[in-house]
Amino acid sequence: MRKFFTLSDLDVKGKRVLVRVDFNVPLDKKTNEITDDKRIRESLPTIKYLVERDAKVILCSHLGRPDGKVVDSLRMDKVAVRLGKLLNKNIKKINGCVGKDVKDEISKMNNGDVVVLENLRFHPEEEANDKNFSKQLADLAELYVNDAFGTCHRAHASTYGVTKHLKSAAGFLVEKELNVMGKAIENPKKPFIGILGGVKISDKIKIIENLLLKVDKLLLGGAMIFTFYRAQGKNVGNSKIDEEGIELAKKLLQNKKIVLPVDVIIADKFDANANSKVVDANNIPNDWMGLDIGPETIKNYKEILKNAKTVVWNGPLGVFEFDKFSNGTKEIAKFLSALKAVTIVGGGDSAAAVEKFGYAGKLTHVSTGGGASLEFFEGKKLPGIQALEESCKRFR
Ligand code: AMP
Repeated sequence: MRKFFTLSDLDVKGKRVLVRVDFNVPLDKKTNEITDDKRIRESLPTIKYLVERDAKVILCSHLGRPDGKVVDSLRMDKVAVRLGKLLNKNIKKINGCVGKDVKDEISKMNNGDVVVLENLRFHPEEEANDKNFSKQLADLAELYVNDAFGTCHRAHASTYGVTKHLKSAAGFLVEKELNVMGKAIENPKKPFIGILGGVKISDKIKIIENLLLKVDKLLLGGAMIFTFYRAQGKNVGNSKIDEEGIELAKKLLQNKKIVLPVDVIIADKFDANANSKVVDANNIPNDWMGLDIGPETIKNYKEILKNAKTVVWNGPLGVFEFDKFSNGTKEIAKFLSALKAVTIVGGGDSAAAVEKFGYAGKLTHVSTGGGASLEFFEGKKLPGIQALEESCKRFR
């Protein structure tokens, strides 16, 4: 039995429904325009469902990091405009998120209307999961829906505190993320292969340990491989090293599921136009640094991946932001996009990478949550989901 309510458990007709969405979209540094509206588009199924069932839809989200102060460039107005275009509907933006004026605006709503509240993080009480602020948010509505998977790893007022007061359910996006990733990790079709990149082993130790319990092989890339090489006594030149992770790497290397690159692409400086060459992993010269996995490694990894039935990937395999060092990440993304397997990419940089190279649509699932998907693969219970489960017990 499911432990939390979903949209179909709610009787929403004519009701005020507070929906926590993840409208934390990237903004252009110069023009302040939205550069990618994927997160808004991902929330549309839940919003449309509620509109079609005559709910009064009150959307709330954070945007950027205003740190508890009003920052004009981080107001939700442009998000509301973009949402209006995507829904082809008039959307009202309200200049606050709690209090009498906001309540007055909401009292004017008709069934099927949608409003967007101001940036939640203009209030320090949001991130502090303040009891009073949670109650004030809850006072705006009769029901609550969490569709902000990307924020489910945070116990904030709008993801946690608010659920104490209202019957609460998961939106379609949260449900989808949990279903697809949960099935992959708990009941994977085998062979199950993990791919892990990124920088620090110490940051990723929990996900490495958890994945090693489940996968048949764990393929490594990114800067973390140099910490493993150091643990093996190899010379790594100027490559990025996680000193604290060396002892951990030694321990992890006893697990034979771990696969390291046999060759790397090295550069004479950390620069998009650096001189580069391919070397064997045993021959990294002093003064050079490894910035991508090499062609022999790509071949090896494809050979292992070709029989996989489930693949989970977190963290880019090289400095994908530089064209010259993006090949490993690109080639593996391309290979996965044609694989007959469940292919899942955790959010954050790896999601940005597969999106950039145009393969996101051909994978089974690209998570919208960076930190949230990481914590999910670490085996942690996400506070936002825990809150939904507690609410389900309270309002059953
Ligand atoms: P993480 O946030 O730990 O997943 O790390 C992602 C970042 O790691 C990206 O910005 C990549 O550019 C970077 N990265 C990947 N491979 C390397 C490398 N060999 N050297 C330095 N940075 C890298």
